[in-house]
Order: sequence, then structure tokens, then C-alpha cells
Amino acid sequence: MMAQYWSLKDKAGECLLFYRMGDFFELFFDDAKAAASTLDIALTSRGEHDGQPVAMCGVPVHAAESYLARLIRAGHRVAIAEQIETPAEAKARGGSKALVARDIVRFVTAGTLTEESLLEGRSANRLAALAQVGDEVAIAAADISTGRFEVVAVPAAAVDAELARLAPSELLLSESAEELPISSARQIVRRPSSDFSSTSAQKRLETFFGVQTLDGFGQFGRGEIAAMGALVAYLDHVGTGGPTFLQPPLRHLASGRMAIDAATRESLELVRTMIGAGAGAREGSLLGTIDRTVTAAGARLLADDLASPLTDKGAILDRLDLVDGLARDALWRGELRAALRALPDAARALGRLVAGRGGPRDLAQLRDALGGARLLREHLARRADLPPLLAHLLPGLDGHGALVDELARALIETPPVDAAQGGYVAEGYDHALDALRETARDGRKAIASLEAQYRDRTGIASLKIRHNGVLGYHVEVPAKHADALMAPESGFTHRQTLAGVVRFNSSDLHEAASRVTQAGVHAIAAEAAHLEALTDAAIGRRAEIAASCDVLARIDVAAALADHAMSHNWCRPDLADEPCLEVTGGRHPVVEAALAKSGERFVPNDVSLSEADRLWLVTGPNMGGKSTFLRQNALIVVLAQAGGFVPAATAKLGLVDRLFSRVGASDNLARGRSTFMVEMVETAAILAQATPQSFVILDEVGRGTSTYDGLALAWSVVEAVHEVNKCRCLFATHYHELTRLAETLDALSLHHVRAREWQGDLVLLHELAEGPADRSYGLAVARLAGVPAGVVKRAEAVLAKLEAGREKTGGLAAGLDDLPLFAATLAAAPEAAKDALREALGAIDPDALAPREALDALYTLKHLLADEA
Ligand code: ADP
Ligand code: MG
Repeated sequence: MMAQYWSLKDKAGECLLFYRMGDFFELFFDDAKAAASTLDIALTSRGEHDGQPVAMCGVPVHAAESYLARLIRAGHRVAIAEQIETPAEAKARGGSKALVARDIVRFVTAGTLTEESLLEGRSANRLAALAQVGDEVAIAAADISTGRFEVVAVPAAAVDAELARLAPSELLLSESAEELPISSARQIVRRPSSDFSSTSAQKRLETFFGVQTLDGFGQFGRGEIAAMGALVAYLDHVGTGGPTFLQPPLRHLASGRMAIDAATRESLELVRTMIGAGAGAREGSLLGTIDRTVTAAGARLLADDLASPLTDKGAILDRLDLVDGLARDALWRGELRAALRALPDAARALGRLVAGRGGPRDLAQLRDALGGARLLREHLARRADLPPLLAHLLPGLDGHGALVDELARALIETPPVDAAQGGYVAEGYDHALDALRETARDGRKAIASLEAQYRDRTGIASLKIRHNGVLGYHVEVPAKHADALMAPESGFTHRQTLAGVVRFNSSDLHEAASRVTQAGVHAIAAEAAHLEALTDAAIGRRAEIAASCDVLARIDVAAALADHAMSHNWCRPDLADEPCLEVTGGRHPVVEAALAKSGERFVPNDVSLSEADRLWLVTGPNMGGKSTFLRQNALIVVLAQAGGFVPAATAKLGLVDRLFSRVGASDNLARGRSTFMVEMVETAAILAQATPQSFVILDEVGRGTSTYDGLALAWSVVEAVHEVNKCRCLFATHYHELTRLAETLDALSLHHVRAREWQGDLVLLHELAEGPADRSYGLAVARLAGVPAGVVKRAEAVLAKLEAGREKTGGLAAGLDDLPLFAATLAAAPEAAKDALREALGAIDPDALAPREALDALYTLKHLLADEA
């Protein structure tokens, strides 16, 4: 057995091996230890290996799914080794000692789940593969529970951002690929480099989709083909040959989307929270706060929309018109939402059917969802003033009439999930099946009347006819009455004697029972044949069904956004052609919702950025509302370009191509770099990438280091954003000294969050006003926070001394008056010495050098380098 175990374990690789033994899946060795600690189940041992007891634990097969769910959630992958022959077959093959043959039938991994119980209905579950061919990096991503398959080619610098958008639960990398600083995938799986070869990938994809050429799906680069091919190869590996559902790949065009990198997503918490105890949760994120979708597919689409706002004005206006139409007509919206709410998650039902794990219940879900879609379409088609996007989408709901009618005739109202017991095909669909059922029913009636007859005949009132899996139908009497039936002329044959009862058979009973059983077996077979045909019919239309599901989800999202907008007084944003951001009465939806819970009111604030006034420097006391103000404006941009209303009284914006958000010294050590390093790396990315169409919020950048460094860096970052990037920017800072930048930078203006000291207490007004903050209120905040009065008093004394000193020396920013202009520094920047080095290097012809000369040349280069330093 150990030999078999090790060969399977070898195949399973890093996956935990579930080794089927009877009614249990057993795990051994380290697998057992890992599983036992994750699942909190008993670790036992069995036999010895190399003189050590073998660690073992097991989970019952019937409950395996819930254990699997926990293991997957904890980051494991599992290989399931089933018995692939019966013990009897094993004996026939290899004698009485033969071991039952086992093989891995499936790998259960986070990215390849289709089971309803293992998936979260309202979130997408993606598997992604990343490939690099030459300079081209591509990511393929699939949600195999719905078949959505997309591929995107990205510049190397944008890989992390793209992965952050997709948030795959499993990411495939080639064995030979370099380590990537990837923060956004939950699990990284290394696969053989052959999976990533673009030539074999091409063939694999053509076979998978059953096409002669991929050209019909679009023109793909070699990197894209390699990534898609690797993904399909992995599906093949984990399913060991079973079918998987993928729609033809959609090319995700990064160009039509707002660029949002990983750090920005993290700090804005668009679809999940990133910081604190509940990190990773939907609740508390923008999505969690505004999601009013009534279908799971709608919830998934809303998450995608928020994660990937548009940059195409026409497309945004289309979505806005639809939301607008639904916002204006509450009655209509209510009807639509009620209709959608009743629809099952057909996209995932279809996914299970195609994966071969579907059942009658899934077909019924298709019937109900597609039937509902038809009604919805008819209802919508009667409206005169359909928003254009809806009019355009409507035909996508059509065309399932024949399938729906067939399913409606074929299936009972609520069929079972599992087909094994039959009983799901409706009466009247198949006359032969009805006849079989009739026969079985008659047989059961006959058996019931036999029971009465036998009681009469034997005079044993407690005689019963029973059924079990081993004996089938049989007569059972209490032991004390058994003798009468034992008599040879009684017509009964003895089958079994148990403690209190004795069991018999009779020829009449046997005959009736055979009729019932046979009819039952035939009926189940007939139902199974129907199930197969119906499943095939549904699968044959999978592309159309998936398209209809997308339309339903789009309507749900628009109605949900409209509903939320109406109940929260949101407005439709105007799109402008020039880079501006003008918001009156803007609010932060998540903070506002949190405050509302405790009965507090959110103070709305305005912003108005334009080409002439594009950089706002926001100062003011800690807890004054600076971070909230910055983020609310970033969220307004995201919501508007996702095609929704925004939390404001009025809003007008020029489209944003890239959105950046940076928070100084956030407490995120997860990436294994110092927080200040992270802060600077992220800031560097902004300075390198932000364009005049971008929107940037910088929150306390420079906080993560000493005062002088921090101020100096913050100072020069503001200058660079103003002079070089020329983007719209909100910059919050506690460095009061920065306000002096207003004297030299003409598109920069000063603002502050207001606060007042009143009867010794600090009152934070959360209200934005023009000009710099008059002071920093640090001590008042400390008092507010409960720092003991003695300590605050002492700090006051220290502060008085410091301020007296500042007056004399001119303070932290003394001497900055004669700082040369930022532009002048930039112009002087090209390093002359480095060019000398380049020149010398360029002049060397390695082939023409003697060894000695080569060494000399090397010394020369080293000298040049030293000069430069
Ligand atoms: P800062 O960045 O200036 O330290 P925050 O933006 O973090 O301040 O805000 C601190 C707290 O103040 C928030 O958690 C919130 O409860 C409250 N707050 C912020 N802005 C507002 C507002 N506009 N209206 C009401 N409360 C606000
Ligand atoms: Mg703050």
C-alpha cells in the first residue's frame, strides 16, 4: 500500500493527498499534520515507516466538502485519490491480497472550484496565469464557475496593478520565471515551463475550443497565447481530463480602463478592506457599502466595474444614462429589481453543468432564470423611452424559448440536486417513463396488499413487509411467531434470523418486488438519459446563455446603483473635456455610512480643481478630516467613471486616465520592505507615471522618516507634481512649512480643515476652508485623546520654548527662501560624469584588446566611476 501511496503522492506534488479508504479520505505524514492542525481534528498514527510511527488523520467522505472548503480557505490545495475499481474487481484481477487500484481523479484548488458550497456567490473566483515572451507580459484570467475568460497584455511595470484588479485566488507562474514582487495573488503555483510555450499553447487552445484557428476570437500576441495556454493546461491537469467551461477569451483592453495600481487599490479599499482586523472583507469597502444588487451575478459585475472604471466617455455616458433612467422611475426600478431578485444564478449553474458536476437542480435554475429573462424582455420592450444601452442589450435576453419550454415540460418544479434517486422528470414528458412509474406504483400497491393477505392467512398481526438494501423486499415477523412460517408448506422461505425478528421471502412477494425494482431501475435510466440530453441542449447554447446572464447582471448593477443613489441623495456627474474636478457637497460614502450608524452627520465639502488651480495643499489638525476629504474625491472619480452617480450635490470632472493614492508610512509591512521604503517606491511610481490627465492624492507623504528628511522630500515631491506631472492633485500634510510653496507654485493653492478651541476643548469641524491652517493643534488633539493633563501641561511648556527658538532662527524652513527653483535643479540634473563613463565604455572594442589592455581599461572605468561618486 505504501508503494501505491508514494506514487500517488508523487503525482500530487505539493497538494495534500486525500487517499480514499472505504468511507474515509485518509491523509498521511506531513499532509496529516497540516490538515489536522488546520481542521482541528485528531492526529493518529498507523504502522511505521523508517522506524517512525506514520502520522494519519481522516475525514468522512460524505462530509468531505466542508473540510475541503476549510483547507482551501487556509491556502492548501488537495489531490483526491479515489478507488478506481471495486474490491471485487481487484480480487478478480490480482487475487485475494490485491490492493484496490487508486488514482488521482481531481485536484481541488482555490482557483478551480465550481462547487456551490465552496464558492462565495457574490464574488468572482479567478484563476490567473502570467506569461512572459520576449518583452511581452500577459495575464490570462478565468472564472471557471461562470466561464468568463479574459486576457490582457501589460507592460512589466503594470503587472502588479493588473493582478490587483483581478485579485486571483490562484496565480500560475512558469517554473523558470523570475520571482515577481506580487502582492495581489493569494496563492502562487509554479508550473512546468513547457506549459508556457506559445507554440504548444496555440495548439492546446485550438483543441480546447474546438477551432481550427484562434483568429476568430481576435489577434493575440505570443505572450497572451502562452498565458491562456498555461491556464488551460492547468485546468486539464487539475480536472485530469474532465471538461471545463470557458467562454472564448475576451481581450481586456487596458487602454479603455482607468489605471489603478495595487497600492492605490489598497488605500482606497474599492472592493475589499485592506487594513485592520477585517482586512480582505467586502464589508467596509466601497463595494460593501453601496452594493444593492439583488443577484449574485450582479454583485460580481459591480465588483468588476468598481475595480476597473472606464476611460471612454461614450461608454461611461451609456451607463450613466441607464442609471439615470432607472433613478428617475422608482416604480419601474422596483419592478425590475423584484423580477431580477427571483432569478437563480444561472451563470454558475451553467458552469457546473459544463464541468460535468451539474444536476437536475442546475437545469431547473437555467429554466427559471432564462424564463424570467424572457418575461423581463417582454416587459421592457413595451417601454417607449428605453435608455440606449438597455435597448442595445435587450436582444441578448432572447432566443432561449425552445430550451426553456423543453426544460419546463421535462422537469418538476423543484428537482433534487443529485440525480441518483431519479424523480426529477415531470409526469407527462415521456410516456414510456410514465408507464414504468405506473408499473412500479402498481407493484408497490400489490406488495402492500400482500402484507394484508399474509396477516390474514397467518393470523400474525405484527407481520410486516419491509425493504432494505441487502435483502430487498422481505417478510418480517417477531421471533416468537417464526415457527409458523418455517413450516415447509407455509409458502415462505427463510432468509435471515436476527435477535428479535426473523425474515422470509415468498414467491408472490419476489415476483412483485422484481417488477418494482426492474421498473425502478429502468425509470432511473430513462431519467438519466433525459438529463443527459437536456444538459447537452443547454451546453450547446452556453455562449448565448452566458451572454444573457451578462445582460441580466448589467441591468441589476444599473438598478442597484440607481437605487442607492436615490436613497442617499447622490447626483449624476457631468463629464467635461478639460482636466477639472469640481464637486460641491462631496461626501465619503463609507465614512458617512459609519457615522450614520452612530447618529452622526457627515460634513460635506467642496473641491474645485482646474488647470489653473490643480494642486491643493491641505493642512489642519490631526483627525480634522484631511484623509477623508482626499479619499472621498478619489472615490467620486472611481464611481463616476464606473458609470454611476456620485455622493455629492453636483459634480463635474474631466476624465481621469490614471488614479493614484498614497498614504505616508502606512502600517503595511506585508511586502517585507520598510514602510518608508514602500512609501518612497510608491511615490516614485507616481512621479514616473502621472500625466496631466491623472488624479493623485498624496496623504502625509514624508511622514515615515525624520522631520527634516520628510519635509525635504514632501517639498520636492509637491514641486515635481506641480512642475513635471501637472496632474490634478490633493496633498494633505502636517508639514506646515510646505504652505510656503504657494509663493512660488502658481497652480497650487492652500486649504485647511477647520478646527476651533472652545473653552479649552478642541472642536473639529471637518469643514474645508481656504488658506493655511493657523496652527497645528497637536496638543489639543493630545488632550482630546486623553493624554494626562500633567503631560499636556509639560508639553505646553516645551512648545513655548521651541516656538521662542523658532522665532529667533526662522524655524524648520529657515533658509529655504534662497532655494533655487525646482526647474533649475531639474535642468542641472543630467550627470556629466556618468556620460564620461558611458563614452569610455562605448569606446572599448573587446575583440581588439590584449588581456593586459583589457585590465587597464577596467581600471579606467573604475576610476571614472569613483570620480562620479
Ligand atoms: P485626518 O486625516 O485629518 O487626521 P481623518 O480624515 O482621518 O482626519 O478623519 C478623522 C475622523 O474624523 C474620521 O474617522 C471621521 O470619523 C471624522 N470625519 C472626517 N471627515 C469628516 C466629515 N467630513 N464629516 C464628519 N466627520 C468626519
Ligand atoms: Mg489622515
